Formats: sequence, C-alpha cells, structure tokens
Amino acid sequence: MVATAERETLGFQAEVKQLLHLMIHSLYSNREIFLRELISNASDACDKLRFEALATPSLLEDSPELAITVEVDDKARVIRISDNGVGMSREEVIDNLGTIARSGTAQFLSQLSGDSRRDAQLIGQFGVGFYSAFIVADRVEVTTRRAGLDADAAVLWSSDGQGEFTIEPATRDARGTTVTLHLKEDAAEFATTYRIESLVRRYSDHIAFPVKLAEAGKDEARALNTAQALWTRPRNEIEDSEYIEFYKHIAHDAQAPLAWSHHKVEGTREFTGLMYVPAHAPWDLWNREAPRGLKLYVQRVFIMDDAEQFLPLYLRFMRGVVDSAELSLNVSRELLQQDAHVDAIRKALTRKALDMLEKLAADEPEKYRTVWQQFGEVLKEGMAEDFANRERVAALLRFDSTANDEAAASVSLPDYLARRKESQKHIYYLLAESPEAARASPQLEMFRKHGVEVLLLTERIDEWMMQHLREFNEAELHDIARADLDLSDIGEAADDKLDEVREQAHAALLDRLKKTLSGRAEDVRISRRLTDSPACLVLGADEPGIQMRRIMEAAGQPIPETLPVLEINPGHPLVERLEALEDKSHFADLAHLLLDQARLAEGRQLKDPGAFVQRLNRLLLEPVARPAEGNAGG
Ligand code: ADP
Repeated sequence: MVATAERETLGFQAEVKQLLHLMIHSLYSNREIFLRELISNASDACDKLRFEALATPSLLEDSPELAITVEVDDKARVIRISDNGVGMSREEVIDNLGTIARSGTAQFLSQLSGDSRRDAQLIGQFGVGFYSAFIVADRVEVTTRRAGLDADAAVLWSSDGQGEFTIEPATRDARGTTVTLHLKEDAAEFATTYRIESLVRRYSDHIAFPVKLAEAGKDEARALNTAQALWTRPRNEIEDSEYIEFYKHIAHDAQAPLAWSHHKVEGTREFTGLMYVPAHAPWDLWNREAPRGLKLYVQRVFIMDDAEQFLPLYLRFMRGVVDSAELSLNVSRELLQQDAHVDAIRKALTRKALDMLEKLAADEPEKYRTVWQQFGEVLKEGMAEDFANRERVAALLRFDSTANDEAAASVSLPDYLARRKESQKHIYYLLAESPEAARASPQLEMFRKHGVEVLLLTERIDEWMMQHLREFNEAELHDIARADLDLSDIGEAADDKLDEVREQAHAALLDRLKKTLSGRAEDVRISRRLTDSPACLVLGADEPGIQMRRIMEAAGQPIPETLPVLEINPGHPLVERLEALEDKSHFADLAHLLLDQARLAEGRQLKDPGAFVQRLNRLLLEPVARPAEGNAGG
C-alpha cells in the first residue's frame, strides 16, 4: 500500500469544472438543495451496504444499525453529514468525486445556454448530487472508509471546488462517510440547528434510515424523521409533499412529478409499487443506453437501480420503486429476465400505469397535455410493443386534426369517433411532413367538402405506428393518400360505372399523360378525391410512405424509389387546358409541372429542381416567347 500512503493533488475532469461553475452561479436562489442531495447520497450508501451485507454479513461488523447524522457548528460555520453506509475506497473516491461517470454528460452540458434560469432547470434534471455542496461551501472535506477495510485504510478528500482536489490517507474509526462543509460567509444561515432541522423535515422526511441531529452538549443525537420506507406506509397517511420529496430523491429531479400511483398488491404475487409520471422528459430520453426502470427492493432491502424488467419500453419514462416479497434477495439482472414473478408484476404495473395515465387524461387534461408533449412519442411505441393493451394505449394517443385551426395534438380516437358523421364507418388520417404540409394537402379536399374530420400525423414515428394501429373500437383506420381509398361511407358514391365513364371520357388525355410522364409516374388516373386542386399523388396499398422512407434512409437502408400514381381532377381549368393543348412540348411542360406541383404539395422535394424552374419560366414567358401555338416545337 505504499503507493497510496501519500498526499496527491488531482484535477477535476473538465466536465466537473464546467458543472461546478454553472451550478454555483445558476442554483444560487435554491441553495438549500445541497442538504437533500447529501442526505440522499448517504441514504444510497446505507442501501448499498445493506445489499452487500446480504452476501457478506461481516461487513456490518458490530454496528448493523444504519443511520445518517447531521452535526452543526455555528461558531465554526461548519456542517457535517455522516453515514455508516458502504463508504468508498481510494479508487472509488477518485472516480466518484473527481469525474462525472454518467454517459452523455458532455452532450448535456452543451445544452446549457448561459441563461441561468433555464440552466437551473436543466441542472436540476441532471441531478446535481455531491457537487452541490460547493453552492454553499468554499471548502469540502470527505473522510470515508470502505466497509470491510481497516481503520487506517480511510481516505481524506478535500477541495475548494476550483479545479483541483487533494486526496490523502486517513484513519476513521468506523466504516462510512463524513462530508464536512466549511460554509461560505453568506451561507452562514445554514449552520443553525433550527434551519437544518426544518430542511431535513421538509426534504428528507421520507428517508428510510434515521436522520439524526447531533447537538452540542447532548450525548444522544435526536432522530428527525420516522425512518420508514415511504412506500410501506399506508397511502392515507402520506402527505402529497412527502410523495413529491420522495420522487425528487429517487429521480434526481428538482421538479415535482405530475402524478403518482401507489399500490400494494396482496395475494400470491405480493408486491408494492410506487410509480411517478415526471413533468418533463429527461435529457437522455432518446439515448438507448440511458438507464431506465424502477428501483427494485425485496422486502424493503434495496437491490438495484434501473430494474428495467418491470415496465415495458414505451413506459420507460415512469420513475419509481417496486418492492417484492416474492423475489429472492440475491436476484440478479440476469435472473430477473427469466422470473415468472417479474412477468406477473410487470403486467400488473403496466395496468396501474395505464390507469394512472387514463385518470390524468380524464380529470386533469392540462397535465395530460404536458405528458403528451413530453412523452407522446414514447407512448406511441406501445402500439407495436403491447398487443394486450393496444386499445387502452391507443385511447391515450393525441392527434392533430383538420378540426383544429392550428396544429395541436389534442384529438383522441374516442373524441373522433364520438363526433364522426352518422354514415361514416372509418377513421381517416393523413401522413405528412409537417402540420403545414398536411393542412395544405390536396388529399383533404373531398373530406373538407363533406365535412369529415381527418387526423393529421406528422411525426417520424407515425407511419410505423399506424401499421400497428389498423383498428380502434371496431372502426378501421384509413390512410387517405392510398390509391384504393373507398369514400362511399362519407357520401362520395363508389360508383365504378361512373368512374369508367369518366375514364373513357378522358381516355385520350390520360393516354397522352401516361406517355409523356412515362418513367416518372406509374399510372395516371381520374381522381375522385379532388375538388380544388388539379392533381395529387397517391400511394399503392403496400407502398412505404414518405416518413418510412426517411426512417430507412436515416438507418442507411434507403428504399428504392417507386413511381407514384398521379391522379388528376378533370374539372380543373388547368386539366381542361391540357386536354385542349396540341403543342407537344407545351403539353409536356404542363404535364411535368402538374406532377411536380403534386409532389411539392406533399412537402416532398423535387428530384430535378432545375428542370422544374426552366419549365416554369418557359410557361411564365409563354405569351411573349410563343406568339402562336405550334411554332415553338424546336
Ligand atoms: P449520484 O449520486 O447521482 O451518482 P453524486 O455526484 O451525488 O452523483 O455522487 C457520485 C458518487 O459518489 C455516487 O454515485 C456514490 O458512488 C459516491 N458517493 C457520494 N456520496 C457518498 C457517500 N456518502 N457514501 C458513499 N459513496 C458516496
């Protein structure tokens, strides 16, 4: 142990320096959170020791009672927070109190704007943890001894939070950690028994270990909390504020949750679940490696963080704890994957989570709107993931629709069905690149004419989602951009005879268009869905749409382009003009423009914008450049 028997000065990782700087400047108005963070760490350390002691009982030595003690010295302006938890070895101290191990930290820091109010919120989401000590202290010392190591294998870590820390050997009589804060002059208010006591009661009442206050001149430290795991207490005895503080503790989130659900399930599969819906998405919601899942306890003994087996992926934004009486204390992540109890608990928790979301949607739509804004895209994954609960999850989805003047995800499928027209059987939707492109789409014209609502889907995931949502409450969902659209139920007679007559009446035009556009359009047909626009594109029944193409492109597997079907509106003056036009090149210019504008109306890009511009210019200049029809061929 020679190498460690000396004092060493080390630099903080760059991210830590940046975080420290930002924290000290942006969390100033919320300084007292340091106490919650440090007590929270102490509680985690006790949890970890209890867990390790399952396999190695000797770690508890002769002090199996785990506790946290806070000591205040107002004259010296010092606060000490001690625990007899797991402690840290020298390596662990360097790793934990010199770096930020969490992946994506750099990415997180790059999101900070320098606007301190916004940053304070972001930092709160990130979970400031240990480093928050420097908001109130200009020197912090940590003396710690890893459980199982000797008294002289303790370590003293010390820093002024400016960029470096020192680390040196120390002795500590018992295992555990003491964090000593030398308060800044303007933080002296925190070094009073009264202030500490009220902060502990406010922020840390839910901590499952005793939090004691050691007072000068008194031998016995006084317990400030009930030290009972919150979820084991009866619901009607728990204050909302306690639920909220508990959430902040487990989720490392400064913002209160939107809702929670606390259930004790008795019987053969006995377990207790406490789940929360956060008020905002974590900054790493879309990071595949981001930790997710519930905190797992077995008979009140902490087993692991981020037990992801207890909720389906589309509910991964939920936070909380699950405490099972059935699982074995030495359960591991691998074992969890094959455990039948886990499966049963997941099913039950999923139902409870959906109950909670449904209740929120029904009783507090404002809050549910926030849920949808923050997690809607994640919930959509449920369409593919959870067959058993599909109808329930589908009812939780919110859509933009032609019933809204401005883009807003506010319409549910039950809303839609409740106001659909009497004769209408199906639910109609349109996939588009953006809310603007959707609203401008010619595909909507016939629906507008008949006053039929169409859902507008403009997120990347939507097309994929809709492949799994073909039916809701016995109504089929139909993509209105598909070629095989049947409009009979909204009052547009599906008269094949009439279609035939129309096709025949315009046979010559269709034939010319098909020839002219060969290589660019698969087919040209007379449309039944247009009233105002001259033309639109439609998709074959199984052809991937625009969003699917984008997804596949992004994944490096572009789908080969297929040719679109062009539908034309024979009543439109432009089409009438085409019909009468004999000049070949003039006809070709107009025909190509018709196709191009149908493409643009969908929010798609043109393959050859240059050719488009040239054609357009030729037509714009037409009266001058082409004094008489028929001379302009060459
Ligand atoms: P977080 O708690 O979010 O991981 P912190 O910055 O608060 O981040 O702490 C970093 C790490 O330092 C913790 O994960 C833990 O391993 C260690 N640590 C902090 N406080 C203690 C303590 N009182 N006892 C043992 N380990 C601790």
